[in-house]
Amino acid sequence: MSLSSPYPDLDELLATVGEAGQRLSEINASEGAAGNISICIGWPMEVRRRFPVCRSIKLPHVVPALAGHVVLVTGSGRRLRDIPADPARNLCAVIVGEDGESGWMHTVPGAIFENPTSEFNSHLAVHADQVERSGTNFHAVIHAQPPHLTYLSHIPEYRDEAVLNRRLLRWEPETIVNLPRGLGVLPFILPGSPALMQATIASLRAHRVVIWSKHGVMARSDVSATRAADRVEYAETAARYEYMDLVNHQRAEGLTREELHAVVDAFGIETELLG
Ligand SMILES: [Zn+2]
Repeated sequence: MSLSSPYPDLDELLATVGEAGQRLSEINASEGAAGNISICIGWPMEVRRRFPVCRSIKLPHVVPALAGHVVLVTGSGRRLRDIPADPARNLCAVIVGEDGESGWMHTVPGAIFENPTSEFNSHLAVHADQVERSGTNFHAVIHAQPPHLTYLSHIPEYRDEAVLNRRLLRWEPETIVNLPRGLGVLPFILPGSPALMQATIASLRAHRVVIWSKHGVMARSDVSATRAADRVEYAETAARYEYMDLVNHQRAEGLTREELHAVVDAFGIETELLG
């Protein structure tokens, strides 16, 4: 899927990143400076008026597919909850060079961070993979640390994708409607590492949210940053129900397989999760 013109302008895009950051903060998925957001824009966009300070950087991952794209990304150490008040101060605009190896990092004067987020390699790699595969002209990626999902990933049996999806889909009809491909699950992999980046690319081909076990999640959308944040919220809400049921001695019924089939049929959802 691609966005069609008239395209959102820079201020509108910055505002949606702020909205997404605010919501992730409200659901306790971004304690301290945890979490980061980026959006990849495939149409021409002037960023120098808003971000007049510019320096050349080496990208943490080579992305020829993104040559000429603009990536708005949160700065290292910035807090997601601070973005709405002043998006330009908490983000930078990276223009990817023609070689896909270097880029121009644009910031406001007196920027309060040195570099993009330390997870920028995974953000870039997922954007490039999705742009290459689907030809989309817009892509949003969020890393957040929702506590219930992350807690469940500490329990070995929930690191089995089939088990996790079966247990999380059963709490409200919205879950399968909004996450028809379910959640991917990765084992614990060192944050910011090439191994995490590679595993994330692969999992986000099949899913729109992937759990980084014992750490958090990464979610994507080709519509908006807020849509990606919604996906984190739907997944975290399901995990909260699951957690409630565990501490309440598993007394709940949950949606039955038949009830889930009825939801899928009524809403015309294509899913392979129900077998
Ligand atoms: Zn993290």
